[in-house]
Amino acid sequence: MIRFENVSKRYPNGFEALKHVDLSIEQGEFVAIIGLSGAGKSTLIRTINRMHDITEGRLTVDDIDVMSLQGKALRSFRRRIGMIFQSFNLITRTTVIKNVLTAFVPDMPWWRAVPGIYTREEKLKALEALDKVGILDKAFVRADQLSGGQQQRVALARTLAQDPQIILADEPVASLDPVTAKQVMDDFRHINEDMGITILINIHHVELALQYADRVIGIRAGEVVYDGPADKVDQAVLDSIYNVGGEEAA
Ligand code: ADP
Repeated sequence: MIRFENVSKRYPNGFEALKHVDLSIEQGEFVAIIGLSGAGKSTLIRTINRMHDITEGRLTVDDIDVMSLQGKALRSFRRRIGMIFQSFNLITRTTVIKNVLTAFVPDMPWWRAVPGIYTREEKLKALEALDKVGILDKAFVRADQLSGGQQQRVALARTLAQDPQIILADEPVASLDPVTAKQVMDDFRHINEDMGITILINIHHVELALQYADRVIGIRAGEVVYDGPADKVDQAVLDSIYNVGGEEAA
């Protein structure tokens, strides 16, 4: 379970990007975080794996106080949390399978990591992850030969190879066309349903959020203004999240 208790985040320049956030997310939930650009969506998900430090309150994952983690403990904690970015973050000049295999590098001794020597078990696991996202046939193709949607699937396979308990996805479909975006969202749904992995997606396409997520968290100016089932999100809820008519409307 991910739990935020009265969490605030102030950036070093004094800007308060999260204000008194209280949330509990159970293992296996599929949650979409929606809100205007600059509302704090990305900050929120990046506090969970400590890419950003919170500055007030308490944040726990399975009762582990995230802010107390350091060094080796922080590194192994992060390995249980996959992260997907809008820009895929692949090594484009190498093959798909080699990209997925990089998931194992943090756990490898240097003498295998430097030359890139992988075990048979690691290779099988990487191929299995590619199979799960439907691109096993692309294993030996160079990553930059793939479409955007396929590249995002490689990123997803790389994350799956690390056996995550939680996947955080920061605008994973923002740079994809609508058809491909749905295919990638379908992958997230299968991963969530078949493997019980918690999915937290920060997404600005409201229709996709409502179609795929079970639960929606709406953020406005660093505050949670809606937290409930996706099928209860009506126009009034959207107005409150997007502050239609208010001074912050974009
Ligand atoms: P979203 O993901 O909803 O677009 P972000 O979480 O990226 O929003 O940003 C929330 C607010 O925090 C924005 O106003 C942004 O300008 C500000 N912000 C983000 N990163 C930093 C930073 N490193 N320093 C100062 N302000 C930041």
